[in-house]
Amino acid sequence: MTNDELKQFKASLSITTVAQALGIDVVRGRCRCFYPQRHVHGDRTPSVSISEERGSFRCWVCDDVRGDVISLVQIVKNCNFVEALNWLAETFPFLVQNGRRETFAGRLAPNSFPQERPSEDSEKDKLVSDDEKKKIILSFLKMLSPVDNTPAGAWLARRRIYKPVWDKMLLRTIVNYQELNQRLRDTYDVEILKYVGLFNDKGNLKYYKHPLIFPYLDSGRRAFYFQARSLDKTVVPKELNLKGTVPYPYNVSALDQKAGWIYLCEGAVDTLTLLNQKFDAVGIPGVRNFKVEWLPLFKNKNVVLCLDKDDAGRSGMDYLQGVFAQAGIRTIILGEGLDNIKGVISEGQDINEWFGGKK
Ligand SMILES: [Zn+2]
Repeated sequence: MTNDELKQFKASLSITTVAQALGIDVVRGRCRCFYPQRHVHGDRTPSVSISEERGSFRCWVCDDVRGDVISLVQIVKNCNFVEALNWLAETFPFLVQNGRRETFAGRLAPNSFPQERPSEDSEKDKLVSDDEKKKIILSFLKMLSPVDNTPAGAWLARRRIYKPVWDKMLLRTIVNYQELNQRLRDTYDVEILKYVGLFNDKGNLKYYKHPLIFPYLDSGRRAFYFQARSLDKTVVPKELNLKGTVPYPYNVSALDQKAGWIYLCEGAVDTLTLLNQKFDAVGIPGVRNFKVEWLPLFKNKNVVLCLDKDDAGRSGMDYLQGVFAQAGIRTIILGEGLDNIKGVISEGQDINEWFGGKK
């Protein structure tokens, strides 16, 4: 696990949800100190504040009771760093990279764990500025073709996702990989293309097997982030995310702060499926990519959770329900309580299949 992966893992966890999983009673961002004997009246008035925003906690009396989500586990379970990570990975398995169930200890000796550094990349490590990086991604997306009359368009139509949605979401595809690869090389330095995540270590465009591109449009219909999808079901993984943090959910403009329902899906394809059925839907690349700092975007919304109906989807939905509940946002699970009605999603089905999409 690299420093960045550790950061991403921590950022994807809600510290309040973790505290609750540890059996701690959290009320309005506060809980009782884990060392009540150090407090008058056993800390009847909770002294520990929990910041969801910063992912940290702090006791206002005990100097040593403070830290991040991992130190919280360490204190409460009286264990070391790696044991705390393993407990988190076991308790929230869907957050672990690629869903692999391997333990962190198995991958790394405790002492070799990377130390936290205050900032991710110092300015001098950056090949190009963040703004420049955005411009390069934007210009890459502009080099791509619309999906009309391409294999990507046919693939989408088989999944009952049609042209009005292609246009609304500016879906794009790579028609001629070689030509695009060359054009990018002619326009930018290969090292810069690698740095922004478009090129692989060998110095070629990454999306040879992933020609369908889902840009993450902002409210101004511009995108600095995207996911790429394979059209061939034998390709693993079927989706590639641009490296770096996911800036906001897919179709974020549906989160318009107006009162109403929003359908939350995993992946762009399920989101597009619901959009095609005229539902207001947003997507997250995976449960572990859901960021608690996105919660304000969901203001005034009730959320229908539409994750896959399998064990991973269910535990992911449990987790998200806890996170949304903490923020005072109402959630329901798609199809919940309708188990006896014909036509409800059956075990193992995803949203696209439910609407008749073919694999
Ligand atoms: Zn204390």
